[in-house]
Amino acid sequence: MTTLVIEDAKIIDGNRLTRAYIVIEDEKIKSIGSKPPSHATHRIDAHGKIVLPGLVDGHAHLHDPAFTNREDFTTGTMAAAAGGVTTVVEMILSTPVDTVDRVREKIEEGTRRSLIDFSLHAGMMNQKNLQNIPEIANLGVRSFKTFTCKPYYADDHTLMSLMRETSMNGCILNVHAEDEAIANENLAKLQAARRTDSMAFAKWKPNIAEARAVEKIVDFTKGIDARLHISHMSTGEGVAIVKKAKREHVRVTAETCPHYLTFTRKDMRKQGPYLKMNPSLKGPKDVRALWDGLRNGTVDIVTSEHAPGTREEKEIGRTDIWKAWGGVPAIETMLPVLLSEGVNKRRISLPTLQRVCCENPAKVFGVYPRKGVIQAGSDADLVIVDLKIKRKVRAEDLHFKVGWTPYEGRSLKGWPIVTIRRGQLLYDDGQVVAIPGGAKFLPMVF
Ligand SMILES: [Zn+2]
Repeated sequence: MTTLVIEDAKIIDGNRLTRAYIVIEDEKIKSIGSKPPSHATHRIDAHGKIVLPGLVDGHAHLHDPAFTNREDFTTGTMAAAAGGVTTVVEMILSTPVDTVDRVREKIEEGTRRSLIDFSLHAGMMNQKNLQNIPEIANLGVRSFKTFTCKPYYADDHTLMSLMRETSMNGCILNVHAEDEAIANENLAKLQAARRTDSMAFAKWKPNIAEARAVEKIVDFTKGIDARLHISHMSTGEGVAIVKKAKREHVRVTAETCPHYLTFTRKDMRKQGPYLKMNPSLKGPKDVRALWDGLRNGTVDIVTSEHAPGTREEKEIGRTDIWKAWGGVPAIETMLPVLLSEGVNKRRISLPTLQRVCCENPAKVFGVYPRKGVIQAGSDADLVIVDLKIKRKVRAEDLHFKVGWTPYEGRSLKGWPIVTIRRGQLLYDDGQVVAIPGGAKFLPMVF
């Protein structure tokens, strides 16, 4: 049997860093000691470097059979590996994943083509497919997605039905929360004024749209005792509502994404359609509230919300923002952005980063303690990071398919240097060294 030892690493123990020798056997962490073990067949010297659990990305669009020009399981998970992400919960894009057959197809595709272990969200859920929830849950896919707005609008009765059905089956309901009525009202005004510029998009669904929808679904959840997860939260109002709900012991968790922590709508003036995403970017107050939310535990997790569109799908928005693809590539830059803008700029601590990127997402999406933690018995998914490396982001160095990034030219300090999945080297010194086929589907366990 091979024994791999990660030597002289710094790992997080509570709120401090401790020196550790991580012993890996049979894809698992066998032990963690403070001294070198007597026996090792392979060694990786991590001297002076931080070692985190491989990141668990709870929301990334990697594979839609209808849009493999944007991304697929292989390119998306190559990018993930290079970004220190070793587990992904793949999110539906346009092609529904709402029947047992569709879920099985996606599991097969992921197992064949992914480099990292994965789980799946099912959706987009509505009144018609909610009857499939028990069967899908039996396959281990226990996380479902719905919307309070177009393009997958679920009315209030449907939302409550979905909460009841997911709750009865011990599942979690993810909601894209923006108010449909406010969006429709604003869209009518913007269309009447013939607005097609980037800033019009930012006006379409303002803070109040997210606030109203989050408040509504939190209130619905109270009566049903469902497990609610708010996808990609972008506003300070959302943070405040979730904070209050948590004080009242509502079973709600919330996520935000690197782009909502680093850009504001002002950046759209420069990057235009390339920063079009749903929800849209907000203001500096919201950015501060989201970082605060991560620090104080209101915002549970950071997900990449990786949703790349091609250059053509973005460029078309220069003349008409409504025609542009909404979404950005993000899975590979998530960790460097959080190390640089979060840890190195002292907005969050390293233990907070580990909590919101590893431990919490593993717990929220039912793969803990197999993933998201460095402890004996867990999968040996690890990322070695160097907090001191400073490098400019260049799309040509990144691995996802679309060949552009909203961080182009930005200097980031703090990068992953080695990524290991179940004891196997995936990424080393700038190179993805694994090939597809070794991935495992992870049934969610709650
Ligand atoms: Zn999404």
